[in-house]
Amino acid sequence: MEITQALHRAAQQTPDLPATIAGERVRTWAQCRDRVARLAGALQALGVGPGDRVAMLSLNSDRFHEYLFAVPWAGGVVTPVNIRWSPAEIAFSLEDAQVAILVVDDAFVPAVPAIRAGAPVLRTIVYSGDGEVPEGMVGFEALLAEHEPVPDARRGRDDPYGIYYTGGTTGTPKGVVLSHANLLASALGSAASGDFMTPGGRLLHAAPMFHLADGASWVARNVTGGTHVIVPMFTPAGVAAAIAAHEVTDVLLVPTMIQMLVDAPEAADADLTSLRHLLYGASPISEAVLERAAKRLPAAEFTQAYGMTELSPVATLLRPVDHGVDRLRRSAGRAAPHAEVRIVDENDEEVPYGTVGEIVSRGPHVMLGYWNRPDETASALRGGWMHTGDGGRMDDEGYVYVVDRIKDMIVSGGENVYSVEVENALAKHPDVASCAVIGVPDDEWGERVHAVVVPVAGAAPSADQLREHVKGLIAGYKAPRTVELRDALPISGAGKILKRDLRAEHWSSADRGVS
Ligand code: ATP
Ligand code: MG
Repeated sequence: MEITQALHRAAQQTPDLPATIAGERVRTWAQCRDRVARLAGALQALGVGPGDRVAMLSLNSDRFHEYLFAVPWAGGVVTPVNIRWSPAEIAFSLEDAQVAILVVDDAFVPAVPAIRAGAPVLRTIVYSGDGEVPEGMVGFEALLAEHEPVPDARRGRDDPYGIYYTGGTTGTPKGVVLSHANLLASALGSAASGDFMTPGGRLLHAAPMFHLADGASWVARNVTGGTHVIVPMFTPAGVAAAIAAHEVTDVLLVPTMIQMLVDAPEAADADLTSLRHLLYGASPISEAVLERAAKRLPAAEFTQAYGMTELSPVATLLRPVDHGVDRLRRSAGRAAPHAEVRIVDENDEEVPYGTVGEIVSRGPHVMLGYWNRPDETASALRGGWMHTGDGGRMDDEGYVYVVDRIKDMIVSGGENVYSVEVENALAKHPDVASCAVIGVPDDEWGERVHAVVVPVAGAAPSADQLREHVKGLIAGYKAPRTVELRDALPISGAGKILKRDLRAEHWSSADRGVS
């Protein structure tokens, strides 16, 4: 079975149910199938054959949803583009993936000349906005009007569905080739918990649709049946308004978005009581933010997912019932039904419960490989297990604790310090809105624990106050030796804090592999 099967089923079983609600525009599943089949016909007429890549560079929209179905329907492979990339990076990725057709919305029309200049491989630009079609492009709606529906190509479950790019948090994003079966395994396995995406619900897309965190929730919503509510991008007020206006039941948010949503004065009065399920993940969340979120969303159940693009993306889930147990709230939960999860040492031997090692996972959700990177594929998939690059430990009930990305761990005076543990302690200080902890060069200690803190509006905590606060919660050697206050942290297009950018200010590239 392919990703498009969910569309066939929804059009047959719930033809009049809204498939997408985007602003004022509502389209049913029956309309969605017709539009997708026509768009697929248009793509084939534009030359898309089996396995050909089609890219989309766009904010979230209902046409993004149609693109995600139409490309496989035509026999092609989706390659959603990270909206934060520069035109040069976009052009590089289009050349790298040999993409002839690019779909853009209004936000990215101005970037098209520079992208074209860097990517001679491009033949056609499709404009998916609502305005007049810019010169040299073809209109999305015109394509639909001009082409007849074609049958679903149904290439097969083990064929690539898409090339999804990793978040680019630790370095240059890698293209991850995922099959239909990979994505369906993760979506069905996750939905099997029964804790979120219950059939018929309304899922809000506020996280960027190009990133697989949102992409996977899109697949899960399709297979369980229901409606997609789509906002162009995350803003606290926009999300709050969409939840209230459209009775949204499910939302996927990354921790930086949750923090902004619960702290934003402009979203403080919105009625969010329709929300039944908050799914979060993609980076660590502090207990302090989790507590504020639970207060703001008393009617919602919380589920945490841990995983990565290479795992389609879910490996473990922390269920709503586990959120009620104090000691488990620091955990990322237990292996999802489709995933095997282990903790191994540097020789790939499983370590005893409680010992920190690398988190690895095996199963039908493991990527086909990195696009055009055979060496990195081989090293990541050693022995059939995906090596996550995340440090973690497991308790004897199978709960996994992600301690830190291995690349973010700090070695100070011979002691290991997990940046996430220090951030979590800092975040409990009432003056701290958000923070990031990094290792910076230090003559005496090798590396020194350094904190970059965004205070809550009007507060200016001193380094000593923050240090004392942290020492009250965790071992003294982990407390930040230096602290700087800032207005904001650098955030990636996927909504993650870019510690490598913070580190780069302190390390010359010769000292350490900082890009
Ligand atoms: P890149 O691989 O390009 O550096 P990235 O690792 O951020 O970027 P993704 O695939 O989007 O790319 O993210 C996967 C990573 O996100 C995981 O390896 C892990 O470090 C982090 N992560 C995901 N879920 C969680 C979670 N629930 N708790 C803590 N960390 C998480
Ligand atoms: Mg990664």
